[in-house]
Amino acid sequence: MIVKLVDANNHGRISELGGRVLSGGQISRDEALWLINLETSADILDLLSWANRIREHFKGNKIHLCSIVNAKAGACSENCSFCAQSSHYQTGAPKYGFVDPEPVAEAAEEANKNGVTAVGLVAAWKGLNEGPMLDEVCARVREMKAGGKTRPDVSLGIIKSQKVADRLKEAGVECYGHNLESSRRFFPQTCTTHTFDDRLETIGHLKKAGIKICSGGIIGMGETREDRCDLAFELKAIGANVVPVNILNPIPGTPFEKNTPLPVMEILKTIACFRFILPRQEIMIAGGRTVNLRDAQSMIFMAGASALMVGNYLTTLNQPVEKDLQMLKDLGLDPNWDSHDFSDQEEAGCGCGKENCETKAVMV
Ligand code: SF4
Repeated sequence: MIVKLVDANNHGRISELGGRVLSGGQISRDEALWLINLETSADILDLLSWANRIREHFKGNKIHLCSIVNAKAGACSENCSFCAQSSHYQTGAPKYGFVDPEPVAEAAEEANKNGVTAVGLVAAWKGLNEGPMLDEVCARVREMKAGGKTRPDVSLGIIKSQKVADRLKEAGVECYGHNLESSRRFFPQTCTTHTFDDRLETIGHLKKAGIKICSGGIIGMGETREDRCDLAFELKAIGANVVPVNILNPIPGTPFEKNTPLPVMEILKTIACFRFILPRQEIMIAGGRTVNLRDAQSMIFMAGASALMVGNYLTTLNQPVEKDLQMLKDLGLDPNWDSHDFSDQEEAGCGCGKENCETKAVMV
């Protein structure tokens, strides 16, 4: 039998850090690294329990639900090593051009029926420029906006011009999905056809246009724990509003097809560390949830998640929405938002009282 020693001092230190975040403070990078390197299940469960308190303190029992529509599938010019839709790999994933209004309207209607706050139109291409395609995207967004109360979000890749971001805002886009994927250090191992800075530049244009940011990453690609923490701090620095945490589902034919899956406790611990670093953000568990967490899926909320991607992913299946809604009900969680404008993320600072409080500066 392998005996892992439980250090009684860790309980006190986890509580001290958790209490600090709960009262509006923040943890340093070194403290986050200490948390993410906890090894015993006793310590990890302590960490989850504090992450759960922090979630409950800042989010109550509300859970933000999102679903996505693959609005343009496959044949993407980029070489993201995790992606079934890259033209660089043979994966057998579907390929089609930009969708007609009907499938989008159907997805929006389905989302409305299930109380899903937002539906994201996701396109597999490098990015969006001015021209007829932008007109078509804006038309779909306007139709969705007119058709119901579900918020039309989009994820359309790299934006190089402020005008494109402004046009999207004008059409009614409130939130744009653009993951940083991993730490700046690890990013080149996930993609070489565009850079981390291309992604930051896009986010800059979106923020300037007044669009909220949905940005997170993928864990389980071969990155270190340090990379995961650094991603969370990058997301804090850019002021992401929604932080999707995807867990790699290795796709045959991609460079990551043989990656070893992360252990469940490692995934939960990472979510909890994200909650400590990003106490007010919507931390959304997205792709790879069902396949990687299996029976432990409901523990994501105890680990600090406050949002869930429901319905099928871009190229892989999820469990039925009804099952997710039942899971939330069983846990006493409420997915219904009349509107979600992220005003609960407005930060009053860390309590230091300084007008130029750095905590406030990075959160809003
Ligand atoms: S992640 Fe996006 S940009 Fe990268 S290959 Fe897939 S569809 Fe293209």
